[in-house]
Amino acid sequence: MTWQYTPYIIPILIASIVSFTVAILAWKRRAIYGATPLVVLMVSITQWMVAYILEIGSTTTASNLLWANIAYIGIVLGPVAWMFFAIEYTNPIKKVTLRTAVPFLIEPAFILLVAWTDNLHHLFRATVALDVSGPFAYLVITRGPLFWVHVAYSYGVLTYGTYRLIRAYFHTSGIYRAQIGVSVLGTFAPWIINILYISPAASLFIIDPTPIAFMVTGVMFAWGIFGYRLMDISPVARNSVIEQMDDGMFVVDTLNRVVDINAAAQAVLRKPIDRIIGLPIEEVFDEWSHLVEQYRDVERANTQIRFSNGGQTHFYNLNISPLHDKQGRVTGRLVMLYNNTEQRMAEIALREAKEAAEAANRAKSTFLANMSHELRTPLTAIIGYSELLQEQTAVMDDTNLPQRLQKISVSADHLLHIINDLLDLSKVEAGQMTLSISSFNVTSVIESVQVVVQPTLAENNNHLTVHFNLDTDLTMEADQAKVRQILLNILHNAAKFTKDGEIVLTVQHDPADASQIMFQITDNGIGISEIQVKQLFRPFFQADLSPTRRYGGTGLGLAISYHLCKLMNGDIQVQSKLGEGTCFNIFLPLVTSEKTISANGETAHL
Ligand code: ADP
Repeated sequence: MTWQYTPYIIPILIASIVSFTVAILAWKRRAIYGATPLVVLMVSITQWMVAYILEIGSTTTASNLLWANIAYIGIVLGPVAWMFFAIEYTNPIKKVTLRTAVPFLIEPAFILLVAWTDNLHHLFRATVALDVSGPFAYLVITRGPLFWVHVAYSYGVLTYGTYRLIRAYFHTSGIYRAQIGVSVLGTFAPWIINILYISPAASLFIIDPTPIAFMVTGVMFAWGIFGYRLMDISPVARNSVIEQMDDGMFVVDTLNRVVDINAAAQAVLRKPIDRIIGLPIEEVFDEWSHLVEQYRDVERANTQIRFSNGGQTHFYNLNISPLHDKQGRVTGRLVMLYNNTEQRMAEIALREAKEAAEAANRAKSTFLANMSHELRTPLTAIIGYSELLQEQTAVMDDTNLPQRLQKISVSADHLLHIINDLLDLSKVEAGQMTLSISSFNVTSVIESVQVVVQPTLAENNNHLTVHFNLDTDLTMEADQAKVRQILLNILHNAAKFTKDGEIVLTVQHDPADASQIMFQITDNGIGISEIQVKQLFRPFFQADLSPTRRYGGTGLGLAISYHLCKLMNGDIQVQSKLGEGTCFNIFLPLVTSEKTISANGETAHL
């Protein structure tokens, strides 16, 4: 292949370098809407021009045609890329995808095929001749019908792209308008130049200036999208927040102009988009002037704002964060607004309801405490007098009377027990349970509970074994009555829910903490299911809720024991297996000083 030099190569070479540079710049910013089609446009033009340089540098018809055909790759792609640029640029919500692009690429592919196979049909180039009469050789072509088909198609897509840009220009205001205006101006160059080139006056041009005109367009487009630095910010934000989200999003540039906004934000402002984009925030948020004043220079914020509008209160969550470019410079701010009026209203209603419920609960506890107290006084008298009468009637000769009086006495005792439990629970819940700390011997407490629980053990034919793995004279500093009460509750339950069984009470140091004492009470009774174990320490819980309850009781004992343990900075744990038995571990500090008791005796929630 021999080559010729012509000075016409120089402008095309310069134009191709410019095009390629713009392609690289656009590629680096491909996140920006319109940038990817711009890359395709500029690469197509570069390819077209490079092939064109090689074409006009060739000296034979064959090599001229070869390069002309190669140039057609860029020639057919350029106008389509141009249209995609206009579509994406004027609708910065949807990017053009390969799927949407394919139908528009059918004609270019067809034309490429036609151009490459032209020597078979001459429908694209009717005649081809190499003019060597001048200072350098160049191809002289008579166009065939399919060439004009391609011209029509290219003009079609260019017209559509131009229409999109002009329409956007008239529908936009502020800084965006100027930005689109630059792109609109850019569209004129290829129109004018190409019309001149393919018109009969074409003899004016020895070389085809169309790619150079496209290069001018590309530069203008690039200026349009990058020059104003506006789109620099908005696509960054757009990529991270979806247009359809509920939160209102505004992007504000460093000059406090609104440069982007999503649909939810527009709904908050109730203004057409052309009265928002590109305008200063004071104008856009004219109804919120005090907030504009307050947050005008705030780079970062996350706060609740509240304002009244037409007698209605609105709550918004306002979040402001800075936007940075790749060099870390602040390029603007992202403002997010979330209307949480409903949520806040619901919260307020919930808080009021909770306060009302707590007040009602406190009232209930006070009522229970008072009522239990009231009930206890006459009951004590009933018990006292029935015992007295029992003694007196024992000497009389009525055999039924002492028995009946004893029944009264037992029932009254039972009632007193229930009332005492209720009183204890209401005291604990009202935070009024106090401790009376004293030093006492652990052995004597164990001995006394053994005596008390004996009747229940005997009733169910159970046997109790005590393993006392401590010094017999070990003393404990705690509330003796409450320690007794806990042990009695648990032992009493073990005896109640076991029949003909073995109950073991082990007393030792807590293996995990020597400053604590551990009472372990195991039985081989009815056991508790896994689900029920979880609710065991809740007041009024009873495993057996059948109407024919076999065991009686109120379901208060364990809840009280739990609270008392916690009150003395101890703990109570349970393991159980249905049908096999239960094991309770009670942990209590050997020394419960007043100051280690949790403030105001508050207890954990069950
Ligand atoms: P009460 O014994 O008055 O019903 P408690 O609070 O002492 O109330 O016990 C609650 C429930 O826990 C009992 O009704 C019983 O279902 C279950 N429970 C407690 N201890 C045992 C145990 N050792 N074996 C089986 N079930 C038990």
